[in-house]
Amino acid sequence: MSERKTIYLCLAHMSEEGVEQKYVKEAFDTNWVVPMGPNVNAFEQNLADFANAMDDGSKLDRKVVCLSAGTAAVHLALIACGVQAGDEVCVQSFTFCASSHPITYLGATPVFIDSERDTWNMDPELLEKAILDRKEKTGKYPKAIIPVALYGMPYDCERIMAVAEKYGIPVIEDAAEGMGSRFDGQVLGTFGRFGVLSFNGNKMITTSGGGALICRSAEDANQIMWYATQARDAYPYYEHTAIGYNYRMSNVCAGIGRGQMTVLDDHIAHHKHIQELYRQLLKDVPGITLHDQPEGGRYDSNFWLCTATIDPSVKIVGQENAYKEVITSAVGGAAGVIKAVDSATTDCQPNENVEALRMFMLSKKVEARPVWKPMHKQPVYAAAPAYVNGVSEEIFKVGICLPAGPCVTDDDVRYIVDCIKEAIIKE
Ligand SMILES: *Cc1c(COP(=O)(O)O)cnc(C)c1O
Repeated sequence: MSERKTIYLCLAHMSEEGVEQKYVKEAFDTNWVVPMGPNVNAFEQNLADFANAMDDGSKLDRKVVCLSAGTAAVHLALIACGVQAGDEVCVQSFTFCASSHPITYLGATPVFIDSERDTWNMDPELLEKAILDRKEKTGKYPKAIIPVALYGMPYDCERIMAVAEKYGIPVIEDAAEGMGSRFDGQVLGTFGRFGVLSFNGNKMITTSGGGALICRSAEDANQIMWYATQARDAYPYYEHTAIGYNYRMSNVCAGIGRGQMTVLDDHIAHHKHIQELYRQLLKDVPGITLHDQPEGGRYDSNFWLCTATIDPSVKIVGQENAYKEVITSAVGGAAGVIKAVDSATTDCQPNENVEALRMFMLSKKVEARPVWKPMHKQPVYAAAPAYVNGVSEEIFKVGICLPAGPCVTDDDVRYIVDCIKEAIIKE
């Protein structure tokens, strides 16, 4: 038997023809090796064309600004919404830290909103409750609302936008994981005032690292671009009336992005195909429930990662050893440096059968990972207000992410599901 290669959660995947390298070479050949240039302009146009195309054939007119990271996009969108020190911003708690951290960069406070059970995303009812309660407690409305397309799943765009409009609060859609997901035939990121995209190495498409903001108006796009390039006023010398940032995308990275746009539709189709395979193969595995989109046709997830929940009653091989050892290397992702800890557990962690399944899959060369730990359970946010219903914490304890994306084959999915079956101890 040949040695099996590790199946990763979601890997970068270049076009067969190597179009990415052609555009990158062009950047070198024309000496545009700077954070602006023809690739950046063309990539922005490609992204706008993609975001503006409605399923019914009509077109929106959003503008797109390319930035150095999705995190930078969240940061600048908050600035453009006028968020300042002392303000509050409502943000989905069940998310990756990049949705909320930029709020704190500004000296503002995140107000965490728990999720609804169907989509795992921001609960519109809790959102409204939080808005009213913050107004009562602080005398001010929150300055912005950040719903997140978790693992690609659309939030309830209709109800979130209705609440936002009722109180006149701008929405910054965090569609970093939801590139190309749609609600009512409209691309995520085009519903709010701003939409965040990420092109990190593991996202739907990559520029090695990068992000973008979908903007509703040309004025907003212009302002974002100004802040992204150190906020200069029009004098022959550098005159500054505001604090800016160095957040523009490199023309080299944008070359990769232009090439990746040629495979974006294929990538999305493949993620959906993998979800469909899991759907079929996990159907009859007791205790394992694949997370799927609400029926009825309004939700069209890109299924960036496929996720499942494991019933607490399921027994997994090796479960007695879960959390027995302190972790000494990063679980998942090119995490850079992770701070060493001296305990193997925290007071809020996935169930032992989930951790046991993760370890079992690793021994089978399959990368599986817990779902994001809700921000309102993170020590660093202990003091932040949170409006909770228990949903995200409950899913965190039973959820697991499974490999998806263009590098995962049909055979891989069959192997992964066979491994899951093997891991379950039959009573
Ligand atoms: C990846 C991601 C971001 C932004 O990421 P960058 O790595 O800075 O490009 C923002 N929000 C969510 C939910 C993400 O998953």
